[in-house]
Amino acid sequence: MTVFRKIEGVYKGAPFHMVGDGFRVSNYFPSGNRFGQRLSPFILMDYNAPFVFPPSEQVRGVGAHPHRGFETVTIAYEGSIEHHDNQGNHGIIGPGDVQWMTAGSGLLHKEYHEREFAKRGGLFQMIQLWVNLPRANKMHSPRYQELLSSQMGRSDLPDGGGSVRVIAGEFNGIKGPAQTFTPIHLFDIELKVGGKAQCSLPTSFNTAALILRGSARINESQVVHEGDFVLFENVPGEIQIEGQEDHTIILVLSGEPIDEPIVMHGPFVMNSPEEIAEAFNDYQMGKMGNPNF
Ligand code: MN
Repeated sequence: MTVFRKIEGVYKGAPFHMVGDGFRVSNYFPSGNRFGQRLSPFILMDYNAPFVFPPSEQVRGVGAHPHRGFETVTIAYEGSIEHHDNQGNHGIIGPGDVQWMTAGSGLLHKEYHEREFAKRGGLFQMIQLWVNLPRANKMHSPRYQELLSSQMGRSDLPDGGGSVRVIAGEFNGIKGPAQTFTPIHLFDIELKVGGKAQCSLPTSFNTAALILRGSARINESQVVHEGDFVLFENVPGEIQIEGQEDHTIILVLSGEPIDEPIVMHGPFVMNSPEEIAEAFNDYQMGKMGNPNF
């Protein structure tokens, strides 16, 4: 008999708020700090649930702002997102693509709707995750990985039940393209009604799933719905997700915790208040690079 990993809780995101004028997001954490470091190495998740933006001559999004000490991971589901940073990186991602940006020692970037998409307007859906860096890598030089849909690992589920796209880590021997500093699994799963995905993830890894669309039965017991965030206990067992309707979409995140103090302040995530002060100072002194790019 399969032993299942217990569900610790099922949570909703915070009420929607705008990030700049381009991202209408619900924050799942650290909002209210209900999880503390329970989800380490994941430190923030903003979900822009499907939303239709009207056509706009002005490009919607967030202007130049800094980051240091962690990585931003942007997963596009609908619409087209553009990125530009002062380290010379530029990219446009669309449905199925992911940007994995290492802020490391510091950079400035802009995140916005791609110009033609902004002009047309339309359905927009994305997730942004912040992944912490361990002390040893916080000052790593900035890095940018553009991971296109075609590069993702893909595992087809038994009986035509759906598929698992592997962004990072490994599912059933299929590896994802993302290079990470600490061990992370990130799976984008699509299920048909009755389709089953079974994930074997290390007990010590903090593990959760967000239901983006449809509904799913977890571990042959609890049924969860669109917008639900399922956190699993760190106990041995498999995680089974069964689609309750066609086109059910789930993001599974699992990572080895980083057991270090976190001080998170605005766009910086460091280990101590002194390092946060240093980050603000370095930013103001222009040490994170040209603010006009
Ligand atoms: Mn940013």
